Amino acid sequence: MDQDPRKPRLHPDSLLAHGGGTDPATGAIVPPIPLTTTFARDEAYNLVNPGHLYARDDNDLFHKTEKLIAALENGADCRLFASGMAAIAAVARTVKPGGTLVAQSGIYWGTTLFLRKHCERNDIALIETDAADLSTFSDDIAISKPGLVWLEAPSNPYLKIADIQAIAARCKAAGALLAVDATAATPLVLRPLDLGADLVVHSATKALNGHSDLLGGVVTAKDPASNAWSFICEERKMAGAVMGSFEAWLLLRGLRTLGLRVQRMNANADRLASYLENHDKIEKVLYPGLASHAGHAVAVAQMSGGFGSLMSVLVKGGKEAALTVAGALSLFQRATSLGGVESLVEHRYTIEGGTSGIPENLLRLSIGIEHLDDLKADFEQALGVL
Ligand SMILES: *Cc1c(COP(=O)(O)O)cnc(C)c1O
Repeated sequence: MDQDPRKPRLHPDSLLAHGGGTDPATGAIVPPIPLTTTFARDEAYNLVNPGHLYARDDNDLFHKTEKLIAALENGADCRLFASGMAAIAAVARTVKPGGTLVAQSGIYWGTTLFLRKHCERNDIALIETDAADLSTFSDDIAISKPGLVWLEAPSNPYLKIADIQAIAARCKAAGALLAVDATAATPLVLRPLDLGADLVVHSATKALNGHSDLLGGVVTAKDPASNAWSFICEERKMAGAVMGSFEAWLLLRGLRTLGLRVQRMNANADRLASYLENHDKIEKVLYPGLASHAGHAVAVAQMSGGFGSLMSVLVKGGKEAALTVAGALSLFQRATSLGGVESLVEHRYTIEGGTSGIPENLLRLSIGIEHLDDLKADFEQALGVL
């Protein structure tokens, strides 16, 4: 739904509930799925409908969804991509051979692997540093003068909290572009563009869609006139990593309930984190909403309305104990991914292996919309097996 300047500014939940608006041609409350790939010209060879030439870029459903996400992020422009990784790749490719990229260490493993390969193949220097250590991270930016700085907020799966506002100031001073992957937060609790970031990225596969039934990515920009944004838009159009129309339709449908889902998931996560932190079979809970979390104060300052639905727990007793608990859970599904309505548990060491340094006793939890008591009871019985 477009924001009418004569009306009071709507809250994100209200914008979301009417996401995409009504179809002007028919009055339909739910937009149609555009399936055409091409658009006709008239006898004078003008496009029948200007701006509608070919479906790689000209897709009304993309535009509706992009406008909605840009409004949520307080951004100026937005592009959907075929997956989160396609969105991340388009941003990473703004750094040219011979350039430097500074990335937060210990982030989404797929991003780390991609950045390492991409930078190696393209003669780009990659510096991986702990962004929660502000002074070291700032020094790396000041000294290396990178083309791009990459953050994840909160980071997946360590839930580290980088101070986006402070890092944005360092990036500005060094002439670096700052991109933040805020997948684990959602735009309802964290808006990196308001904190000084240039670009915000989401894997729409996760909470934005929320139903674990599509792959998608999204990039939103603060400055639509920047060279980086022109490049990213061209890259989407010409390299063609576009979302399918059906996926865009599902995403818009999922977004209509984002407000409710995030509220429930974050409340569940907050309470489950406290419960697990006090359990004697748990060594540590990594969740920014806990007062014991090293980044709690920064999280409180830069997030609002919750701390996300992702957490990691370290189970006492090592790898075997962690796998025993994962195997004993029955409401939590054992699967990768996050941000869906169903709670998931994952043993990251099994996925990443020993090379990444991931603790062998770490279980990553994505908390869904189930009743809190059932989630707690599931952990109570699974930890009881130890
Ligand atoms: C899942 C994920 C991605 C990758 O997104 P895909 O849609 O799977 O390509 C990137 N960043 C984070 C933080 C993620 O959780």
